Amino acid sequence: MTSIVPNLAEYEVWFLTGSQTLYGEEVLKQVAEQSQGVAAHLQNSADVPVTVVWKPVLVTREHIHETMLAANADPKVIGVITWMHTFSPAKMWIVGLQALTKPLLHLHTQANVELPWGEIDFDFMNLNQAAHGDREYAYIESRLGVPRTTVVGHASHAAVQAKVGVWARAAAGVAAARSMKIARFGDNMRYVAVTEGDKTEAEAVFGASINTWGVNELAARVAEVDEAAIDALVAEYIEAYDVQAELLPGADRAESLRYGAATEIALRGFLEDGGFAAFTDTFEDLGELRQLPGLAVQRLMADGYGFGAEGDWKTAMLVRIAAVMGAGLPGGASLMEDYTYHLVEGQELTLGAHMLEVNPALSSKKASLEIHPLGIGGKEDPVRLVFTADPGPAVVAALSDMRDRFRMVVAEVDNVDLPEPMPNLPVGRAVWTNRPDFKTAAEVWMLAGAAHHTVMSTQVGLEVFREFARMLGVEIVVIDNSTTVEEATRTMRLDALYYGAFGKR
Ligand code: MN
Repeated sequence: MTSIVPNLAEYEVWFLTGSQTLYGEEVLKQVAEQSQGVAAHLQNSADVPVTVVWKPVLVTREHIHETMLAANADPKVIGVITWMHTFSPAKMWIVGLQALTKPLLHLHTQANVELPWGEIDFDFMNLNQAAHGDREYAYIESRLGVPRTTVVGHASHAAVQAKVGVWARAAAGVAAARSMKIARFGDNMRYVAVTEGDKTEAEAVFGASINTWGVNELAARVAEVDEAAIDALVAEYIEAYDVQAELLPGADRAESLRYGAATEIALRGFLEDGGFAAFTDTFEDLGELRQLPGLAVQRLMADGYGFGAEGDWKTAMLVRIAAVMGAGLPGGASLMEDYTYHLVEGQELTLGAHMLEVNPALSSKKASLEIHPLGIGGKEDPVRLVFTADPGPAVVAALSDMRDRFRMVVAEVDNVDLPEPMPNLPVGRAVWTNRPDFKTAAEVWMLAGAAHHTVMSTQVGLEVFREFARMLGVEIVVIDNSTTVEEATRTMRLDALYYGAFGKR
């Protein structure tokens, strides 16, 4: 089936070099050559997943402005890297920086690693003066309050390339958010608070367009799915998963799996036809659907769609953003819910799952395709994929509407193997330990008012989410090994002042 995870190499970031006309043709030719070398270090790095496009050296206010407008207008371009090779008087950058609407990285580097101590003369000094050229430029960035990431070091160094890669992945997340359409089948689960929120404000902050469709539109499509298409998809399931014997063609419950396949085909078709990259449903409003969609939702998440259960469009948006930020990396991005704890002191574990809808990409093992009763929703038994997330580091991120702003909370966790088999819990699940420890993590999570639904990403780390939030001016609360309750509380108090004074940016 068709994945909608983008190939990040098809996205461009433009590499812009600043200089001025004062130095003459010969020096500007050297600036151009050397800046192409710097851009090539980034382009050739395995850590930088996007295409780095070098642009001719900028020496006038007009050319800078035109270039920024062109970057805005080109949908392939997800961000801009700037570097002042020489000295580029920064008043030339004002209108360009004010015009730029895409994420900005300021690379503070220079062409050489070592100084040629024995040969150095003033020509060399004039050519290689980013040390102060970038300071002049940074002044105007700060004076204008331009949101940006500053990365310092030689472009050949792994740590520099890794930071540029983190920024590029976050920028891809911003592009995904701004172009996202989210389809909601039904409203939020009745009486639930945290899955609610201001969808108009979400479009203003993140760019995602969130709207509702009747679930019976989907149910009608399910009823119309072609039998041959169902045959083909069931064959695909048999190839990809360990399918429970009673679901196989000709067996007692084969019809239930065929209904699951029809649901997947119909839902995928609905999303493709409408250009939707994320969706929600709710077990309280399934209309004519015979099963709560489980298998279909799981497979769509594995193909890069965002999903939130119980009408949770904020989590659906985060799942899609995380899938794009993690494009091409092993693992996946999934709806997750903190479900229940193993509360043995000092050995605490969280068991995360959902009724059905966890992304099988969290596991590298072959999933089991099964049917079991669901004690909620009053529909037929749903088919679902059963697996356990691979052990290893992960992050969980949640989004809360705090009335005057959105707050993102991101926690580092470590998935672990199941301590014991769970033969009576046939769902996709993950078991994890918290950083810095269970009690601190849960206490800060709740002091922050963070949701019970999250996106779990096993593809990208905290730093990519931090960059993403910074790019959009969204408050972020981080829970990692350095977190203390006291410091987190203090930070949230200061953030409340900051966002009160400066609005949503
Ligand atoms: Mn839920």
